[in-house]
Amino acid sequence: MSLINTIVVAGGTHGNERTGVRIVQKWMEHPECYNTLCTSAKVDLVLSNPEAMRLNRRYRDHDLNRAFSQTCLDVAVEPQQYEFRRARELNRIYGPKGPDTRTDLLLDIHNTGANMGLCLILSTRDPFTMKASAVLTQEFKNAWIYYQPEERCESPYFGTVARADVCIEIGPQPHGTLNAAIFEESEKLVKRYLELAEEWNRGELQKRPAVKVEVYTQLRDMGYPKPQGGGPIQAMIHPDLLGRDYCELKKGDKLFRTFDGADILYEGEADGRESVWPIFINEPAYYEKDIAMSLTVKSVEEW
Ligand SMILES: [Zn+2]
Repeated sequence: MSLINTIVVAGGTHGNERTGVRIVQKWMEHPECYNTLCTSAKVDLVLSNPEAMRLNRRYRDHDLNRAFSQTCLDVAVEPQQYEFRRARELNRIYGPKGPDTRTDLLLDIHNTGANMGLCLILSTRDPFTMKASAVLTQEFKNAWIYYQPEERCESPYFGTVARADVCIEIGPQPHGTLNAAIFEESEKLVKRYLELAEEWNRGELQKRPAVKVEVYTQLRDMGYPKPQGGGPIQAMIHPDLLGRDYCELKKGDKLFRTFDGADILYEGEADGRESVWPIFINEPAYYEKDIAMSLTVKSVEEW
C-alpha cells in the first residue's frame, strides 16, 4: 500500500464557509497545532479562494469548487474569471491533476447550512480515506460517510487534484458565520485525519479490524418544482422533511410544500426504487444550482 508523503489541508475553497478558513488561518499562525501530527508526511496549508474570503461570499466570479475538471484546467487561453485562473494556479502548485500529482491526500474543509453533521465525502474507494473515515465514524458521534463516485478526470472538485481526498462538510452552519462548537469539533476531526495518516504510514491503520459503516451513496440531485419552461420555484422543502438529512424518505412521504400550502409527495424513482436517503436538504448555496437535496442510497459495509 502506498505511503502518504504529501498532504494539503485546505480552507476557504468557498469564501463564506468560515470554519475551514479559520482553522487554516489559525494553523498558519500556530504551526504547532498540526506539525507534529503526521511527521512522516509534508503537510501544507492553503486558503483556496482568498478573494471570496475577503468578500465573505462563496465565490467572486464562478464556484471555485466547480472549476477543476480537466477540461476547465486545460483551456488554451488564460481565463478571465478569477476562480478559473485560481483553479489553474492551485493545480500548478498542488497537482497536476492525474497520476503525476504531487499531492497524495487533500483535506478540503467546507460548511453547509444543511443538517449534515460531520459529513465525510469520498469520491473514490481509496484505501486510506475509507479506513480513516470509518475509524472517525466511531470516534465522532455525528460523523457520516457520503460516497459520491466521480470520474476523477472530469470531477470539478478541488480535492480531485490530489491522488485521494476527503471533502469535509460540516453543518448546520449559516454561511458567512462561525460557530464555536462546530469549529472545535471540526478542528479535532481534521487533526485526527493527520494522526491516522501517520498511523497509515507506520503500517498500523491497515491492521485495524474492519468496522461496520453506513455508506450513503449518491443517486441523483433533486431540484425544486418549477413551471414547465422555467420560472421561480413553486414549492419549499416540506416542514416534515427539513433537517432530516440521512433519514429514509419513502414513496408517499411529504417532500415539498407549495406556497398555497399543498403537500407534494415523493413519488419514488423512475427505476421503481421506493426509498432514498436525502442529504444537503435546503442547502442555501444550492438554490442557484437548482438543487433542493441530494438523494442517496444507504448501505452497510465493512471498511
Ligand atoms: Zn463548500
